[in-house]
Amino acid sequence: MLTTDPYDGDRFREECGVFGVWGHPEAAALVALGLHALQHRGQEAAGIVAYDGEQFRAHRAMGHVGENFGSKEVMAGLPGSTALGHVRYATTGEVALRNVQPLFADLELGGFAICHNGNLTNAYHLRRQLVRRGSLFQSTSDTEVIVHLVATSLKGTVVDRLVDALRQVDGAYSLGALSQTALIGVRDPLGVRPLVLGRLGDAWIISSESCGLDIIGADFVRDVDPGEIVVIDDDGVRSLKPFGRHDSRFCVFEHIYFARPDSIVEGTSVYEARKRIGIELARESHVDADIVVPVPDSGVPAAIGYAAESGIPFELGIIRNHYVGRTFIEPTDQIRHLGVKLKHNANRVNLAGKRVVLVDDSIVRGTTSTKIVEMVRNAGATEVHMRISSPPTTHSCFYGIATPTREQLLASRYDIAAMGQFIGADTLAFISIDGLYRAMGEPGRNPNAPRFCDACFTGDYPIPLTDRDAGKVQTQLSLLAETA
Ligand code: AMP
Repeated sequence: MLTTDPYDGDRFREECGVFGVWGHPEAAALVALGLHALQHRGQEAAGIVAYDGEQFRAHRAMGHVGENFGSKEVMAGLPGSTALGHVRYATTGEVALRNVQPLFADLELGGFAICHNGNLTNAYHLRRQLVRRGSLFQSTSDTEVIVHLVATSLKGTVVDRLVDALRQVDGAYSLGALSQTALIGVRDPLGVRPLVLGRLGDAWIISSESCGLDIIGADFVRDVDPGEIVVIDDDGVRSLKPFGRHDSRFCVFEHIYFARPDSIVEGTSVYEARKRIGIELARESHVDADIVVPVPDSGVPAAIGYAAESGIPFELGIIRNHYVGRTFIEPTDQIRHLGVKLKHNANRVNLAGKRVVLVDDSIVRGTTSTKIVEMVRNAGATEVHMRISSPPTTHSCFYGIATPTREQLLASRYDIAAMGQFIGADTLAFISIDGLYRAMGEPGRNPNAPRFCDACFTGDYPIPLTDRDAGKVQTQLSLLAETA
């Protein structure tokens, strides 16, 4: 399929967003709005489970939140004062629909819904054990492992069973769960993925990012702490920390690219962080040029920072078409390569005759940069200097951000000079890892105790990669193939 996403095709996406409401008469409608604000975290499927004190009801669909949760009929089918929802990437087809979250199961203790942002790194291993013991899996998603561990736990309450289950899983996870008695939010011990707590009148909200609170006018209360479980019921919020103390390792790529710039995560404005990264980038890799041009949208805040620091004027030299669905033309390999053109067009009047600094957030396979540089040259730019607001992406992410395999990462094959040649730029520079940490308010990267998970830039993986080390590729598809 022709898509504008450089990662389509060969694997499931793991990026996701989680949103839950406890104690509001229109809980499901609020969840739909929250998911709409989190749509950037997962654009291909969405689901909501609502509970009205008697019955759990679910609606899950491929496509955008607005397309699937916009109708009165659908929302009327999700009554109750508590609801939980999820957005995710997925491929099309029946298998994919089975994977759309929240997952739901009727447990011994009653209904239980769960949804997950992140990726478990020992899901394959656990799934093998569970299947041997007789668990019958309904989906190919790593999250279902948690459902089976909760179902088979010998502990008493839902929360104790969930804790019991989570003690067995490794990986990055921000979870939302819903039982008959509570809405539960969880962050893994290192807090790799975000999750925040909010308040709207008497109602409590959990959301992957604070932009999900803004859309419904809810107040931001606080981040859920790394390793914390918040249990929300009619008595309020109870906080558990069953995993002991760990230094957090929040994903720095959330700040660079993934989170929405109007979100505040871990006390830091994503927009401000991106701007500061652009400032550091300008300090590290100044070049004489006429204009600074962002690759929209993700390059915009860093380009603003770069322009401010360098004194070179900021211009919109590339315009993004916002009406491009991820997939809308049937595939052939030739038109597949048109992807970038569908999404971006050169603004010729700004580019002709200019020496251009192009700012983007990352180079992954190099496809986007190659096409953008060519487009900017064809529009008459005399020089093109590419500046990237992340260090070179040399390693795959196993903690919930879809990246291609290591061999497909341009920076794992080439040094920076060769990458520059590959993308056709006059010069290419990335922010250094220390520069990135400086932009985040640190003196530099402390190799003994880095504040962030930066494995995609350093190969320093803070959570064991059990499945990968056992030679099991961690796509959910392969889970299906090997255990079915
Ligand atoms: P590539 O063509 O593979 O070098 O893609 C790099 C572009 O993809 C950058 O401009 C990013 O904005 C964007 N990008 C980076 N990481 C991801 C991701 N995990 N999923 C989708 N897009 C991404």
